[in-house]
Parts: sequence; structure tokens; C-alpha cells
Amino acid sequence: MAGQIRATVWNEFRHEKVHDSVKAVYPDGIHRTIADFLSAEPDIEVKTATLDEPEHGLTEEVLASTDVLLWWGHMAHHEVKDEIVERVHARVMKGMGLIALHSGHFSKIFRKLTGCTANLKWREAGEKERLWVVLPGHPIAAGVGPYFEIPHTEMYGEFFDIPQPDELVFISWFEGGEVFRSGVCYHRGAGKVFYFRPGHETFPIYQHPDVQRVIVNGVRWAAQREVANLAFGNPDPLEDIG
Ligand code: ZN
Repeated sequence: MAGQIRATVWNEFRHEKVHDSVKAVYPDGIHRTIADFLSAEPDIEVKTATLDEPEHGLTEEVLASTDVLLWWGHMAHHEVKDEIVERVHARVMKGMGLIALHSGHFSKIFRKLTGCTANLKWREAGEKERLWVVLPGHPIAAGVGPYFEIPHTEMYGEFFDIPQPDELVFISWFEGGEVFRSGVCYHRGAGKVFYFRPGHETFPIYQHPDVQRVIVNGVRWAAQREVANLAFGNPDPLEDIG
């Protein structure tokens, strides 16, 4: 793909304003931390958008100039307007990548794209997580080795109500015994969708080098600038068929 990848980091940006424990980890917002490490990559340019901006910061213009949209939401999924969800969905169908992070599994856009409840088990005990690469060679897993660990995190456990992934890249093991499909890929319309589990707001997850590497890899994987318009309907034949 020629030129810069245009990433937009969307964050609901509520926990950081009302919870001191989250503000301490992400004083400028989770979106700022993610935007900063993405911006350090020479081939990625980044803008941010948040829930309380007009149109949630996701105007037609912003989406038209976005190759990959990253989505972090948790306490205010229901406040995301359906018309904006429809707009994001239409853009994914035309080829924009979407990366849903952590509690973004419950976002309207991820549930619309997957058609499932995306429900799961969770426990907030600060336990250890080990993420295993189960699709070596997948571009999203490049450079992280056979596994990596996050010392303290929130647990997400199976059953995770998602469709069978097109590509399953990571499975997590948790200290408490559960497992979880932590990195899953889908193709929807002309767009690529990646769900990546780590990112609970009270832990410095987005400062973890392997988590950062996977998100950078995910942006590169999901980005595609040259997508032909999809043709549907009732075409004339290409050959003479009488
Ligand atoms: Zn969480």
C-alpha cells in the first residue's frame, strides 16, 4: 500500500474523566496513549476522536480519510448514536479496517459486524495473562514470539459469543484457569476487522511493548487504501452468451 496509513483512534473517554485510578494511568486519555505509540511508526499517521465530540468525532469526512479505525469503549456503548454506527459500518463494508479493543467487544459496531451478543465472562482480580500465538506467521503476530505475558490484568473467559473467526491469532490463558480467544480476525464486506482483548483501563496495558506491537501490526494488517467499489445487481455478460 502506497503512502501513509491513516489511523483514527476512537475512545469513549469517560473513565479517564471520572475515575482517579484510570486518570492516574491515562492522564490524557487512552486514545492519546495509543495515538502516541502509533505516531512513532514512520508509515502511520494518527488522529483521534471521542464520544463527546459532535458526531462522536466520526464525521463523513473523518471516516472517508480513515484507513483503520481503532475503537475503545466501555461504560457508554449505549450513548453511541445508531446513525454513526451505520456510518462506520458502511465505511467498513467499503474497505476501512476496524480494530475493536478490550471492552469494545460490546460496542454496537462490533456486535453489528459480527451479528452476535459478544458476551463473555470477566473477573477483575489483577491476575496474570499469557497470550499464546496460535497462528504463527500471521502478520498481526509478527515479532512477539511464541507467547507474551501481561502481569496484571482483568480476566475475560470463554464462552465468548462471537462467530467462528476467519483467523484466530491469539488465545489467552489466565492465572485463574480460564482461556479466551484474545485475537480474532474477520472479513466483512471489503473491510477487515480485528478484535484484540488486552486493555483494561485500570492497568497500564497500552504501555506494554508487545501489546503495542500487536496493535501496530493490526493497523498495518487492516489497512487497505485501494479497494475497488463492490459491484452488485444484474450485469450484462462479459462474453457473448447468445
Ligand atoms: Zn475491562
